[in-house]
Amino acid sequence: MTGCILSAMRHTASLFLICVLGVTGAFGQTPPPAQPGPAITAIRAGRLLDPDTGTVLTNQVILVEGRRIREVGPTVTIPPGAQVIDLSQLTVMPGLVEAHNHLALTYKPVPENNVYYYTYVQESTALRAIQAASNGIQMLASGFTIVRDMGNNGNYADTALRQAIEQGWIPGPTIINSGIIIGGMGGQFFPTPEMAKDHNIVYPEYLDADTPDEIVKAIRQNVLFGAKVIKICVDCKPYGYTADEIRLIIRESAKSGMKVEGHVQTLAGAKNAIDAGIWSIAHSGALNDEMHKLMAQKGIWRAGTETPPGLAGHPVSPEAYRRTVDGLKNAYANKVPLTFSTDADYWVEGKTRGELCLEFLRVWTDAGIPNADTLRALTINGYKVSETEQTRGPIKAGFFADFIAVPGNPLEDLDTLKRVQFVMKDGVVFKKEGVMTPAAFFHAGPVNGWRIR
Ligand SMILES: [Zn+2]
Repeated sequence: MTGCILSAMRHTASLFLICVLGVTGAFGQTPPPAQPGPAITAIRAGRLLDPDTGTVLTNQVILVEGRRIREVGPTVTIPPGAQVIDLSQLTVMPGLVEAHNHLALTYKPVPENNVYYYTYVQESTALRAIQAASNGIQMLASGFTIVRDMGNNGNYADTALRQAIEQGWIPGPTIINSGIIIGGMGGQFFPTPEMAKDHNIVYPEYLDADTPDEIVKAIRQNVLFGAKVIKICVDCKPYGYTADEIRLIIRESAKSGMKVEGHVQTLAGAKNAIDAGIWSIAHSGALNDEMHKLMAQKGIWRAGTETPPGLAGHPVSPEAYRRTVDGLKNAYANKVPLTFSTDADYWVEGKTRGELCLEFLRVWTDAGIPNADTLRALTINGYKVSETEQTRGPIKAGFFADFIAVPGNPLEDLDTLKRVQFVMKDGVVFKKEGVMTPAAFFHAGPVNGWRIR
């Protein structure tokens, strides 16, 4: 009984379990039967693409046990009783990464004329969390197994999405979320004095942090409420952050093991962020040849969010598009670490969120980036910027079983990525023969553990 009291005092589930089992044993009851081992699935891959080396192997077998990859190779023995999935007509490859999106935000032409400020006034965090769940499913269906969700998610709908996926309630990509964007007064909004002063209407879309104390507190608030990366407005307002202030942000975030992404829109802001040694820079408009050289030198990730023309409701002028393409070309020539990122947080009729993101491939093709390098940006670099590269992404023994399959060879034709036929996430089939099969992901409880925070 002492053990029971101790466990009650410590409130730990594992000790409580030991206590209960101990008492049961004392009464001589038979122990529960041994749990059967995790299910084994064998995938026959006609072609297996390794984006790291840019090569394709043929006739490989991937053995998946539970949530992880157990073995990969041409001569893997398939154990009796394993479920066999035949993808011999397809190219299997690691899941894709979208390095900059906002899944709990969907602005639209009607009623708000694509003005995000109105979207956020009209839609509750609760509604946006459900949007996020839907958008996450749409991303996964297009092969995105990791999404960095960089703020603008109301009152932590991004954390709720991540927890729901990690606890096992719903299917979705692995989410690396930022919580609320931290910035100088106003964030990216321009509220009226009445709205700003009497209602603090900027919150919870932005966390005002102007002084060092406020900066530290804001970072800690995000950490407490489930952020996995810190996102700041470097220069959304003329008062922006100095290089020293960004250094403080990087230091404070590092205490909790977090990296910092900066929204950058001016050359001065880019200079400050690069000087301070920020982890990643979002948006490419302010990045010139000089900035690219410095970013390459320091290994700073570029999440350029390069928008193609032709998306209904989001016109891009030929001049603006030329600048975007030239910028990506210049970054590539300077060997800046590149990620695939879209910032596609709006509704384009007829397209899912995942299909919309894949439209952004066009910019990479137009910039003349070789397909092998675009595929690296979509995968290997995506795992690195998300910091999952030791656990999730590559199709290797011991890694989480996340991968996709497409017809044809993406090294020759990137557009095959728009026809994802098969998706496995965490060892469970989510899409097969082009059709979503999410039933196995839905649970009435947190099957992976409610303590995931
Ligand atoms: Zn964004």
